[in-house]
Amino acid sequence: MAIIGRPNVGKSTLFNRLVGRRRSIVGDEPGITRDRIYGEVQWAGQTARVVDTGGIIPDDEAEIPAEIFRQARFALEEAGAVILVVDGRTELAAPDLDLARLLLRTGKPLFLAVNKIDTVTMDAAAENFRQLGIRNVFPVSAEHGHNIGDLLDAVFAVLPPETMSDTVEEGSDAAEEASDIRHSPSDTAAKPRTHGESEQGEIRVAIIGRPNVGKSTLLNALTGTARAIVSPVAGTTRDAVDEVMRYKEHELRLIDTAGIRRKGKTEKMAEKLSVVMARRHLQTADVALLVIDATQGVTSSDATIGGYAHESGRSVVIVVNKWDLVTTGRTDGKPPADRAIFERQLRTVLKYLSYAPVLFISASEGRNIHRVLDTVLKVAAERRKRISTGQMNRFLERIDFQRATVPMAKRIRIYYMTQAGVAPPTFVLFTDRAVVLHFSFERFLENQIRSAFGFAGTPIRLKVRARNAPASH
Ligand code: GDP
Ligand code: GDP
Repeated sequence: MAIIGRPNVGKSTLFNRLVGRRRSIVGDEPGITRDRIYGEVQWAGQTARVVDTGGIIPDDEAEIPAEIFRQARFALEEAGAVILVVDGRTELAAPDLDLARLLLRTGKPLFLAVNKIDTVTMDAAAENFRQLGIRNVFPVSAEHGHNIGDLLDAVFAVLPPETMSDTVEEGSDAAEEASDIRHSPSDTAAKPRTHGESEQGEIRVAIIGRPNVGKSTLLNALTGTARAIVSPVAGTTRDAVDEVMRYKEHELRLIDTAGIRRKGKTEKMAEKLSVVMARRHLQTADVALLVIDATQGVTSSDATIGGYAHESGRSVVIVVNKWDLVTTGRTDGKPPADRAIFERQLRTVLKYLSYAPVLFISASEGRNIHRVLDTVLKVAAERRKRISTGQMNRFLERIDFQRATVPMAKRIRIYYMTQAGVAPPTFVLFTDRAVVLHFSFERFLENQIRSAFGFAGTPIRLKVRARNAPASH
């Protein structure tokens, strides 16, 4: 379900009420409060995904219904039901009418939440909003939790039953079928790819990083190196502009290049926008190029963006740009920077990205650009690599588990292990007991897997399943 509405009507309050935990980012600068934020809502034994479509459009434009709609379009396409939120304490306004009209046109099941109806005596106010032409009207108070149950009953009644289990492999017939069921026929021309799965062979690359680190310079260097086969292609599913290029028999799609070039209004705004954009781009990428400015070192915003990249499960390549400015082009009299030292410092801050290769480049001088492309191909392949259960078990026999520093009580016996999925590689351990893996054991095992099989650039997921016991994670 998607939540949409003008600013300040209470979308994120409703979202947090549904999801139960404060998951939305609420910013302190008007208009740039949050990107689409996803959460899960559980109701009467069912689970649904909910997305807060709150805008990233600065200031005035945030009030324009067409803009709100445009921003939310991607989320709306995915949605099985849409909740329009209005502020019940204000008069019905023209923008609400416009937004309602745009939403009605999508043909999606639509629900109107008239919010901020904190007392029953205000219910009458909600009736005014029937003029919006939406049949399902619910006076609610997101803040106090009034009537939210009725709203959820109605929404869950129209949501399609869950058709996609997480064991379905992407790219398989089953996954195709499942996504066909989930999306209404009108979506078939523009099938959203929400889990980073790609068209056959296409590698989706997101260039992410703070303002001024050199993202658009890198984009130009990349597309200038290889032959751009279609450039630019209007994004089919979003308002994005992608650039598609071919490199060594592979098709690379550089995601939302318009966004990469977009410059924020103020420095602070641009900085926040870069975080929001990174999150958005990660949603559909296979590989993220995390660009860092060599002259600045790793800043806290770099670390924030890097953290999102890691959590997203995408493969990551860390690109240290403007290397020329700290070596040949150095003007401050200091000795040229040392890669090993720089990398060590970088890895201390970006600990969680220990699997990500680090490259030193100069985008403006075109240095090491091929290295970037080769590394993208490599990590994209590693991400989809499969280890057979036979190989896995031979590997398991070779590991000296005594070397893992795990408290006795937390030790488990692994009977066997199998790779259950790719992108990111996911392994299931069949064990004697259903326990949460001790973090040091998890790290030990991950290191062993990496030294045996590689998996450069991609996070690895480990799941535990007790044999003869109900599945657990
Ligand atoms: P958004 O911009 O649509 O996401 O709106 P927010 O969720 O940030 O809410 C805007 C303001 O409305 C905040 O000050 C909320 O505390 C307030 N608000 C949200 N829901 C309710 C409600 O049910 N009753 C009242 N009285 N205020 C609410
Ligand atoms: P973006 O905001 O991340 O897209 O950054 P830009 O690509 O617009 O680059 C910001 C500034 O850094 C521009 O003035 C670029 O010319 C400069 N720049 C980008 N890459 C390099 C580089 O490798 N070396 C040097 N010396 N300058 C660079």
